Amino acid sequence: MPEYKAPLRDIKFVMNELLDSEQHYASLEGAEDATPDMVDAIIQEGAKFAEQVLSPLNAVGDQEGCTWSEEGVTTPKGFKEAYQQYVEGGWPSMTADPTYGGQGLPASIGIVISEMVGTANWSWGMYPGLSHGATNTVEAHGTEEQKQTYLTKLISGEWTGTMCLTEPHCGSDLGILRSKAEPNADGSYSITGTKIFISAGDHDMAENIVHIVLARLPGAPEGTKGISLFIVPKRLPNDDGSAGEMNAVSCGSLEHKMGIHGNATCVMNFDGAKGWLIGPENKGLNCMFTFMNTARIGTAIQGLGASELGFQGSLAYAKDRLAMRSLTGPKNPEGPADPIIVHPDVRRMLLTQKSVAEAARALVYLAAQQADVVHQGKTEEEKKAADAMLGFLTPIAKAFLTEIGFESANLGMQVFGGHGFITEWGMEQNVRDARIGMIYEGTTGIQALDLLGRKVLMTQGEALKQFTKLVHVFCKENADNEQLKEFLEPLQAMNKEWGDLTMKIGMNAMKNRDEVGAASVDYLMYSGYAVFAYLWARMAKVALDAMAEGTTEEAFYNSKVQTARFYFKRLLPRSKGHAEMMLAGADTLMDLSEDAFAF
Ligand SMILES: Cc1cc2nc3c(=O)[nH]c(=O)nc-3n(C[C@H](O)[C@H](O)[C@H](O)COP(=O)(O)OP(=O)(O)OC[C@H]3O[C@@H](n4cnc5c(N)ncnc54)[C@H](O)[C@@H]3O)c2cc1C
Repeated sequence: MPEYKAPLRDIKFVMNELLDSEQHYASLEGAEDATPDMVDAIIQEGAKFAEQVLSPLNAVGDQEGCTWSEEGVTTPKGFKEAYQQYVEGGWPSMTADPTYGGQGLPASIGIVISEMVGTANWSWGMYPGLSHGATNTVEAHGTEEQKQTYLTKLISGEWTGTMCLTEPHCGSDLGILRSKAEPNADGSYSITGTKIFISAGDHDMAENIVHIVLARLPGAPEGTKGISLFIVPKRLPNDDGSAGEMNAVSCGSLEHKMGIHGNATCVMNFDGAKGWLIGPENKGLNCMFTFMNTARIGTAIQGLGASELGFQGSLAYAKDRLAMRSLTGPKNPEGPADPIIVHPDVRRMLLTQKSVAEAARALVYLAAQQADVVHQGKTEEEKKAADAMLGFLTPIAKAFLTEIGFESANLGMQVFGGHGFITEWGMEQNVRDARIGMIYEGTTGIQALDLLGRKVLMTQGEALKQFTKLVHVFCKENADNEQLKEFLEPLQAMNKEWGDLTMKIGMNAMKNRDEVGAASVDYLMYSGYAVFAYLWARMAKVALDAMAEGTTEEAFYNSKVQTARFYFKRLLPRSKGHAEMMLAGADTLMDLSEDAFAF
């Protein structure tokens, strides 16, 4: 397993030089504590924890996995102790509401920590990751009493959280879920049903688990309009707030799965478990979106992390492993062969990983800044604009980054040749762990429908226009910059094409609704490449400006410009294929009758 090293220089580049986080934090309400020194200290500490505590447990988690018994689930060796350290370090409370024990720091600082935690050990990071989503949901929709009882415990990290949506017969289509909630005389509800694939559903890391559960009230309307949201604790809280007797909820079994072995994926049985309504009746799915949006950005980080970890492992290997000679003559004449990094194809793989990881970081942090403004913006107008931007970026970040992050993880394995397939190097674990990213939290197909259908076509392209305007302004402001021309010309052309393609799909969809579904994944991938192009052009500008002003870090900035060049010449052209495919028409998919698929 590669030893994870937090890429602090690049993290600071994105935060400070690309996204000017100092100015950003100063513009937020109640973010006075997020001074540059404070942010820097937090990130240094987070890096230490990820590198020294979590990274060594990554292979342990994979090999040992979680174990089930009647008493409950046991996590792999070291997971529980690492969680205690995490709680003692005050990490769960960092970005939470100070009224309930939080430190009130902006969400985007938490995202940087999540990146480091998740890259070092994704399976472990999912436990606090799910708690974070539960925290946000109770914070947004809970009553004062619920906040005092559950939020304080989630924020302190004494209790963890889960999200219980999926049932054996439904995951994407929650409108058909069957779990029931019967009202009790004391104002609570009895929850009955089976939820499957519940991450962190049971474990030994905390004394109590707060399940956030979707279920139907008696007589509720069919479909998504009849779903309500409930808090169902594993142990019922005592009057003094401590965890009391066991509730009627239990983990029936653990799933055996391809990757993320250190995270417990549980079948959860609710047998008349006591729960409390959170948010209004029949509005559960709307409330749950608070959770899902957090989780979607969280999953986007998984794509970034898979890319970064694969890159770190394969770069070290490519400098060390000897095989054949460079096509242009020996580069290591003293040795029996050259290191494989001299070969153009190995460089293609490494630069793909590097350009993906660095742009992914920029995209995730950009989205996180929008989340900051949604929560701590100073005016309603800026909050609304940030919310629309975040809504537009979320499906792109979630689906594009997990797809391309998986590709990067796979390339990481390829750079190692046969050794990549062997467990001890950790590259095959990275591939197995990364694969789920494209499935949970809404598959790529579902994210693509959300982007093209809900976010773009249903808003008459408003959210897209908001983004393409940003790109347009950036191109215009830098129109005279000769050095940026190689990036701005294709970016500007693509920005226009993006709008034209959207219009064409919209027109086709008026005649046949299947055109939306037929175009959506290519549209999402195209959008991902376009967003990356914008971010790489901006990163190239920052680097070129720094070099023009004079710097002692010429090599770092030069590497940025060269990586931007690689991206524009060798990855962005893929968007042309997606553009052509998204207009290929639904008939090429729908004309074949179901009976004619196979003979
Ligand atoms: C390891 C793991 C952890 C998980 N953690 C959690 C968790 O903590 N909590 C939780 O509630 N769930 C969790 N899940 C469940 C996960 O979110 C679902 O598996 C996922 O959303 C897909 O749902 P499904 O499995 O029912 O697939 P289905 O909904 O049956 O989808 C099957 C296929 O059909 C496609 N499809 C479905 N509908 C459409 C459509 N309208 N248009 C186009 N394509 C469509 C999908 O994209 C997919 O390719 C987890 C799953 C796994 C494997």
